[in-house]
Formats: sequence, C-alpha cells, structure tokens
Amino acid sequence: MNLSLNTVNLNTIHERYRQNSYFTGNPKSVATVPQTLQQDVASLGGLLVYCLTYIPGSIIASKIYNKFNPKETIPDDKALSATDKMIQDTDLPGNGFKYFVINKNNKEEVLDEIYKIEWEKASNIKKKLIGPERYKRRLRKKLNKAIKRHGAFYYPSKNYALAPEKGQCYLPHEIGHAIVNKDTGLLPLVSATSVLSKLLILMVALSPAKSGKSKFIVEKAEHFIQKHAVALTLLSSVPQLTSEFTASKIALDHTKDTLDKDQQNLLKKKYIYAFSTYVNMSIISACTVKLAVMAKNKITAMKFK
Ligand SMILES: [Zn+2]
Repeated sequence: MNLSLNTVNLNTIHERYRQNSYFTGNPKSVATVPQTLQQDVASLGGLLVYCLTYIPGSIIASKIYNKFNPKETIPDDKALSATDKMIQDTDLPGNGFKYFVINKNNKEEVLDEIYKIEWEKASNIKKKLIGPERYKRRLRKKLNKAIKRHGAFYYPSKNYALAPEKGQCYLPHEIGHAIVNKDTGLLPLVSATSVLSKLLILMVALSPAKSGKSKFIVEKAEHFIQKHAVALTLLSSVPQLTSEFTASKIALDHTKDTLDKDQQNLLKKKYIYAFSTYVNMSIISACTVKLAVMAKNKITAMKFK
C-alpha cells in the first residue's frame, strides 16, 4: 500500500517536474520558471496587449475614420417624414413603438416621456434597488450623452428609438431595426452574441496552447479556436453586420417614395459609411486578437535560465 502510494507520488512529482520544466532545446537545460506560471504570465501579457491596443486603436481609428463621414445629408424634415411614412406602413405604432428627436431645449420633456416608458418596463428588483430619482438621474446622463452624438439608437427592450438633431437621417435605419425586431425579437440576442462570442474567442485564444490530437472534444474545440482565433473573431461579427445591413436595406427600400433620387443617394452614402464603421471595428478586433496571441506566444517561448 505504502509502496504504491510512493510510486504514485513519485510519478506525480515527475509529471509536475516535467510539466514545470521548460526545455530550451538542450534536454539538460531546464528553466527555473515553472511553465504553468509562465503560461499564466503569457496569458496576462496577451490580455494586456489586447486592452492596450483595442481601446486606443478603436478610438484613433474612429477619429481618423470620422473624416470620411459624408458631410452632406438629407434635410431633417425629409428624414422625419420618411421616418413617419415608414412607421405608418408597418404596424409599429400598434406595437407601442415610439421615437424621439432630442435637443438641449426639449431634453426634460423627452426625459419625462422616456422615463415613463422605461420605468413601466423596469423589473421590480431594479425599481426597488435604484429608485425613481436615481433612475431619472441615470437617464438624464444617458440623454446628455445622446445629444452630443451623431448617430441614432434603437432600444429593442424598451421599444423606442432616439436621435439627436444631428442624427435624424439615421432614424429610418433605426426603424428598420425595429421592424426586424418586431418580427423576430432577435436584436438583443445579436448584440449579446457578438460581444460574448468575441470575449469567449479571446479567452480561449489566450489560454495555454491545447493539443489538436487530444481525445477530448472540448480540448479539440479549444485547439480549433486557438488556431483560427482571428478568422473566428471576424466571423463573430457576421450576425451584427447582417443586422446592420438589413436595417439599412429596409430603410432605403421604404424611403424610395418619400425621398427624391438625390436624397436617396445621400442617404445611401450615409448608410454605407455607417456600415463600414462596423466592418472597420470587426477588423480592429481581429487585428488586436492577432497581436494579443502573438504576445502570448512570444512570452510562452521565452527562455529563462
Ligand atoms: Zn444599426
């Protein structure tokens, strides 16, 4: 009994020693840094590289990219009449859908209306935890940010769209989202899967290398994700890109009757630009995953003596 226990212990120690050793090409030369620790440092290093490149990279890229945003757009009254026509053509009003155009002057008015919609739909736990006053304060912050932006927003769970004065031309696109979401209810899922799948790919890509020859399916899957992390990151954007493309397509189809040819072309240019920003962000995420994996591999391959 004692002997077998000792054998097990010796084997375990040997295995640990083997795993913790870092062979440098010379079998006698063994690193003093345990490999598990080195792998953890490599994963953290990769994550650090990801954070340091993704956040500034996306800010710088969007600032540069913003220069290509077509300045000219359709008149605001045209954008609103096209939006109203789109809503009339669908059963969105029956579905309780509303949209708001916000500016500094009507901010409090819009806040009251949106507060009513959101508070009614908020869960009881949220109502108890946050309370009406804090909820309103948070909403005011959200609206203050929205006023400064150029784009419009659609909130599927609250069933309303919001546009700052500068972003009224995007309202038909948001109505396009609302139409798709009314029929499928998939929009919240699209946004969530896009974020979660990217996070999952990054986590697996930065974890210690897995063998493709393993018997275990999970390990095989992890190996596959590690091998194709960049391509999979790009692929994970496909549902969101499809959703954005569809919303714009619906908007452009519905606004044919309300806009003249020139206005339609201007709107198309705006929407192509908006779509390309999503493509741009997908490429940036894939590139930063690539850099993070390269950093992880570099640290893993370092030889400590
Ligand atoms: Zn959109």
